[in-house]
Amino acid sequence: MKSKEIPGQHELKAVLTKMVDEGRLPHALLIQEQVGGTGLAMARFLTQYMLCSNRAEHDACGTCSSCIKMQSATHPDVHFSVPVNSNDRVKASDNIYTDSFISELREFMIQKPFSNLRGWYDHINLGAKVGLINVKEGNQIQKKLALRAFEGGYRVFIIWNADLMNDDFANKILKNLEEPSPKTVFILVSSAPSKLLPTIISRVQRFQEEHLSEEELADFLVAQANIDRAKAVDIAFRTEGNVFEAMKEANNEINPWLTEFKLWMRMAWGRDLVGMFDWSMKMAGNNRDTQREFVEGTLKVIDRCFRLGWMDIHIPMEGEEAKFYKDFSPYINTANTEGFLELLQKAAFHISRNVNGKLVWYDASIEAVRLVHAGKKAKAETEAQA
Ligand SMILES: [Zn+2]
Repeated sequence: MKSKEIPGQHELKAVLTKMVDEGRLPHALLIQEQVGGTGLAMARFLTQYMLCSNRAEHDACGTCSSCIKMQSATHPDVHFSVPVNSNDRVKASDNIYTDSFISELREFMIQKPFSNLRGWYDHINLGAKVGLINVKEGNQIQKKLALRAFEGGYRVFIIWNADLMNDDFANKILKNLEEPSPKTVFILVSSAPSKLLPTIISRVQRFQEEHLSEEELADFLVAQANIDRAKAVDIAFRTEGNVFEAMKEANNEINPWLTEFKLWMRMAWGRDLVGMFDWSMKMAGNNRDTQREFVEGTLKVIDRCFRLGWMDIHIPMEGEEAKFYKDFSPYINTANTEGFLELLQKAAFHISRNVNGKLVWYDASIEAVRLVHAGKKAKAETEAQA
């Protein structure tokens, strides 16, 4: 991972690389990552920078033999600990630790460098299960520490989602954090450090990721996801600096439900009952999961509109979607937000109970007409008072 491959975090990158340059990097550090953030990528970048034999200004060279190994996640002196559990391939009766999934982990880091925990669990097909960093992992680390570094330089242990270590694991590595072996660095990454034991927290130096601005994220999406600026601005705006969500969306289409929702609202605004009847037929023709997805997508849109009305949030005007929020959010207010949420939840409930979809959506449409106009009236009254 090179610095330029990670969006934003300019200050954190500068602080950490300076520490490496001056030989002051602590032997145990904790990177507090933003949700859906770049913590694992930061740890990988820091490690690559530390091990690079031909560092450029605040970045790894990307071409030395160490960098090549880091970029393929195969450096023999860099070890990862992440939450794991049994799946179809690795049985619960086996000794389970991160290295049981090492090829999956390499693939995951290369394909999805900004993923989150759920993304990792999906990658190894955990289904409804969750992972843990347990004492077997701790034993692995002790075994590795007993060996000498393969390449004679630093050894690095990266513990991602460190807050998911259990007490046995924590106790196993406490001594390593306190009395480091020479040329050994532990990098813990967590988005919920308050869940870590105080004994761990007190032994690491903490660094915090900054919240990624929408502009930084949009720049990054343009460069990395190869999409145009207007679309990047839309996605950055909607995902509020969450790189994981943003990359996921950049590789897919814009929220497909927004178009449908806009159409629905336009008809409600114009009291177009004939149009809404046709729309209800069309919506009811989708399977139940698709209808449920529409409800979920629309709930998010309503929630977002409502919050925008209350908070002074800067809305970029470049993208089509951002423009929609800017124009439409004033009409979603205290007069109708709750009504919309109820309407959608009721529709979802009825669909799950196999009630005739045409009736469900036509009823919802009639109610939507009333709600849109209630919101319009409330907006006009607020403006008259102002
Ligand atoms: Zn290098």
